[in-house]
Amino acid sequence: MGHEIVIVGGGVIGLSIARALALRGLKDICLIERSSLGAESSFAAGGMLAPQAEADSRDALFDLLIKSRDLYPNFAAELREETGVDIELDTTGTLYLAVTEHDHDEIEKRYEWQRDAGLPVDKLTPEDARLFEPCIAPDIRGALRFPGDIQVENRRLLSALANSVLQLDVQLMSAVNVEGLESRSGRITGVQTSQGLIQCPTLILAAGAWTSFIDPSVKVEPIKGQMVCLSAKPQLTRHVIYSPRGYVVPRQDGRLLAGSTSERAGFAKDVTAGGIHTILKNAQEISPAISALPIADMWAGLRPRAADGLPVLGPCGEIAGLIHATGHYRNGILLTPVTAELIAKTVVDGVVPEELSAFSPDRFRTVTS
Ligand SMILES: Cc1cc2nc3c(=O)[nH]c(=O)nc-3n(C[C@H](O)[C@H](O)[C@H](O)COP(=O)(O)OP(=O)(O)OC[C@H]3O[C@@H](n4cnc5c(N)ncnc54)[C@H](O)[C@@H]3O)c2cc1C
Repeated sequence: MGHEIVIVGGGVIGLSIARALALRGLKDICLIERSSLGAESSFAAGGMLAPQAEADSRDALFDLLIKSRDLYPNFAAELREETGVDIELDTTGTLYLAVTEHDHDEIEKRYEWQRDAGLPVDKLTPEDARLFEPCIAPDIRGALRFPGDIQVENRRLLSALANSVLQLDVQLMSAVNVEGLESRSGRITGVQTSQGLIQCPTLILAAGAWTSFIDPSVKVEPIKGQMVCLSAKPQLTRHVIYSPRGYVVPRQDGRLLAGSTSERAGFAKDVTAGGIHTILKNAQEISPAISALPIADMWAGLRPRAADGLPVLGPCGEIAGLIHATGHYRNGILLTPVTAELIAKTVVDGVVPEELSAFSPDRFRTVTS
């Protein structure tokens, strides 16, 4: 059995790359997923597209995040046209609250560098902030508003992408585990799977937090994030609201997500009493009104984090035909459109775009002399 292109992983990254390649006219693409499509981090996420809210300086990752955020309006419109699925791109914006004096010093610095860089950001007094969102805590010291930082319903994004790739004749293999790579003379030749060998000249690894099981040369670890889903009808807030310790994300259907934790806990996805306690304490610091809301659901997911916290994107220098698209850590939903664009460009043109140079998988290889 063989295909021209095999993609491992059916999260937002694998699915969006499959779509981008098929839209460029490539045929015989097969996506292999161990479980079911969108079963992991992409389903657990908050859907915030907020590169500015937490950024303290400009670097290659920040530029990539901004580029991807700005691709979202077209991406959402195209997905809707192709599939009829509305991914609920909400452009209300993001508020970032300062509760303590230390928070206030931090947001002051963030405001200054972003204003000087010409990025859209407004500084708000506590009174101004409450005009935007009356639910916020009475004792905040100030806030920033990021009108360009928006949000998407990541579960609808998964449905839209899954519909799109089906229409584009991508072959989907669910419940098939990829066990290892096959290569010969420095070229990828296929993957070993729970259903036998699948041959391919091009392999794209988008296996999220599990990538290192397939290619141990790239170190990606799972960082657990727990989430609480509250029921807010009518909705409590229109903006996504952050503090330095937590965030709340309003969904159109009355769900209010509160997150999150950041834990090195292996591959276990337990929801814990301590995790939920921390999330709710931080959410109530944003808005005391949260304490009266019913809890509708709780879950945990595993963010894929590379050793240096940066995404791992592009061809692997040692094995021709092997391309990585992983390590998206806290920003995989945000980075979906730009990852799909740039990886598809790499495959189709055979040239690595300049934007990917800081994220090469080869940065992890040990230099020997
Ligand atoms: C609580 C939480 C909140 C988050 N909030 C945000 C947010 O607001 N904004 C944002 O941009 N990002 C957010 N993220 C991060 C985001 O969810 C991830 O960066 C993103 O989903 C990664 O996508 P992926 O497709 O690489 O990984 P995944 O969605 O994890 O997909 C990887 C897939 O590969 C499959 N797979 C693994 N191993 C194998 C194998 N051997 N064989 C076959 N298939 C395999 C898995 O089953 C899985 O389906 C959040 C994450 C968490 C946990």
